[in-house]
Amino acid sequence: MFQDHASFDGHRLVTARHDQASGLSAIIAVHDDSRGPAIGGCRISPYPTLDAALTDVLRLSRGMTYKCAIADIPYGGGKAVIIADPRTGKTPALLEAMGDFVESLGGAYITSFDSGSSLDDVRTIGTRTRFAAGTLPEAGNASQSTADGVFACMRAAAELGLGRPALEGCRVAVQGVGNVGGRLTRLLADAGAQLWVADADEERARGVAATTGATWCGIDDIHRIDADIFSPNALGAILNERSIAELTAKVVVGGANNQLATPEDDLRLRAAGIVYCPDFLANAGGIVNLHYQRSTWSPARLREHIEGLADTFREIFETAERTASGMGSVANALAEDRIHAAGGQR
Ligand code: NAD
Repeated sequence: MFQDHASFDGHRLVTARHDQASGLSAIIAVHDDSRGPAIGGCRISPYPTLDAALTDVLRLSRGMTYKCAIADIPYGGGKAVIIADPRTGKTPALLEAMGDFVESLGGAYITSFDSGSSLDDVRTIGTRTRFAAGTLPEAGNASQSTADGVFACMRAAAELGLGRPALEGCRVAVQGVGNVGGRLTRLLADAGAQLWVADADEERARGVAATTGATWCGIDDIHRIDADIFSPNALGAILNERSIAELTAKVVVGGANNQLATPEDDLRLRAAGIVYCPDFLANAGGIVNLHYQRSTWSPARLREHIEGLADTFREIFETAERTASGMGSVANALAEDRIHAAGGQR
């Protein structure tokens, strides 16, 4: 049963659908709904096994509970996975069937884009459900808000960790220049930072370097650059025993999910004197954007809320310093306090 699965964490709902006509095979998980309906993207991936898909949806939906709580928006954590190759399997019929699946839950889960699914895909899903978020035309691409949140937290981290009140002249190494990293690099260039960029897609990295004045760097070396700040915007588990020992940067702030390979790496960063912004705080700007898309769209309130992520960072930093704890564990505890206050079980 689900409760015996290693990634099960008291999820409120785990449900699967196979639709013969369209070929849809999908799982939706709602981790916690004490703060509000569950929200989280729909990942499309050719998972090798059903268990790999289940593990992902259980883990990712849990992460969304913590992200919504730390960002202080009235949502719980959910996620959907579709088992399909996003390059060949995304037919309109499959996405419409996904819309029917989401609609059948009556609003318990609100979907959006994720790895393998685009805003256009969310629009197609949204033709069949009221519970698809992120397509309000005036809101633009929520990845910009994610980059804005990373930037706001980075400014706060530079101030507290490096004693630098502005990012001008700071040396920043950016790993991954896709939706989030590319936008972040532009913000940093505008702020006068000295930049290095790396991406598995070398052409993309060289393109971003050419338009922002950054220096191109190979993917194996980017975390080793002699920089003040390292910004991971590509992979999970990038902060591990080996990479932490190789970091010269004293601040780490980036948009990638699940940056810590293990909980011990949280303390390793502290022991190395590195100020780390917990990933689920740094990259919460996108979900905050979705919240305003679903309530009353207000660029001013969105901006203020995103700037507030940096205030949360400062609060976590002060507690971590006072208690000699890892930044990640303090952030988890803050999120759990908020979930408990709403009657949740975490
Ligand atoms: P993306 O696919 O647009 O960009 C990721 C980039 O990383 C790509 O350009 C890819 O080529 C590059 N990459 C892959 N492996 C690499 C490696 N080993 N070294 C360097 N570069 C590598 O994805 P994205 O939307 O920018 O998301 C980036 C990260 O941020 C992901 O972990 C994602 O889950 C997380 N995130 C994104 C958002 C958002 O709003 N897009 C929100 C929250 C979290």
